[in-house]
Amino acid sequence: MEIKNTSKLKKMANKKTTWFERAIFLSWYCAKGDCKFCYMSTQKNLIKDPKNARRSFESILAEAFLCKKFGWKIEFLSGGYESFSKKDMLFLIKHIYNICKERLWLNMGVLNKEELKLFKPYIQGVCGAVECVNPKVHKEICPSKPIKEIEKMFKACDELKLKKAITIILGIGEKEKDIPLLKKFIKKNKVDKITFYRLKPQKNTIFENKKTITKEYYVKWVKEIRKEFPKIKITIGSWLNNLDEIHLLLNAGADAVTKFPSIKLFNSKYAKKIEKEAKKAGRKFKGTLTEMKKINIDEIDEFKIKRARKNETFFVPQKSSISMKLKKKIKIKLREYIKKMEK
Ligand code: SF4
Repeated sequence: MEIKNTSKLKKMANKKTTWFERAIFLSWYCAKGDCKFCYMSTQKNLIKDPKNARRSFESILAEAFLCKKFGWKIEFLSGGYESFSKKDMLFLIKHIYNICKERLWLNMGVLNKEELKLFKPYIQGVCGAVECVNPKVHKEICPSKPIKEIEKMFKACDELKLKKAITIILGIGEKEKDIPLLKKFIKKNKVDKITFYRLKPQKNTIFENKKTITKEYYVKWVKEIRKEFPKIKITIGSWLNNLDEIHLLLNAGADAVTKFPSIKLFNSKYAKKIEKEAKKAGRKFKGTLTEMKKINIDEIDEFKIKRARKNETFFVPQKSSISMKLKKKIKIKLREYIKKMEK
């Protein structure tokens, strides 16, 4: 299939800029653990205690700090079902909000209305990991996370005036003829944002040796959704060996790029390639994946949780030993990450 990027589409995309969105990953555990494409499904039986599968608070907060410094938007906080208690989740959300000064997106499984209310002052919305809208494929590939539950969460979001996002993975059995189903889903649920990924076949899953999708197929999905929904936010993920499709996806109407190990591969040939692809699509790249900045890690000492919304104030005791201890640990992590980025 020839990829035609009509000037109308480019105009509709109306994006002179693009940027990188980093999903902050929180834990390797997921209570569902049976989605057939997912790396976490290969880990579930190996994890004896879900707590041990979590990332440390300091590594998560250090990462959020770097996102802020390098101009990477936080795509969402991402973790499997039941990987954190509500209390720990709230702690993290408040601190990340404080570091980034921006309300977050959560992609932590289906949350109920009470949980949404609890997190609401610090979040702009939640992401439903729909993955596939073809009901037959969805049932087979994600047997334990029915789309109905996600839609129920979205109803609660409407009541609470929270935004809604979804993730879609291409290459797990859906077909091009399913595009209208996705349009229907977006319309029905008034979805504000969509992240597309191409499947990366994981070892020990049924997709291990599966052929991946073509860039033409990927572009088709993005283009169709952009055409139908001029205002929806579209983020796209490409793996390292597919980065040359990024300019096509941006021209098809995508807003932003995700799924790149921006710390590990900072200023690598891959990072440079992403910025070049943005340029090729005529976009200015906000933030940087290649330019090292002077980071003052002592800024961490100044953090305290400030008012998020009217009547919602929460202060971290600046002198509490826990807080000081954590700050020290965040700084150690930051030094580690910065060293990696400088390599
Ligand atoms: S619910 Fe999400 S994290 Fe859990 S197995 Fe499925 S895709 Fe993976």
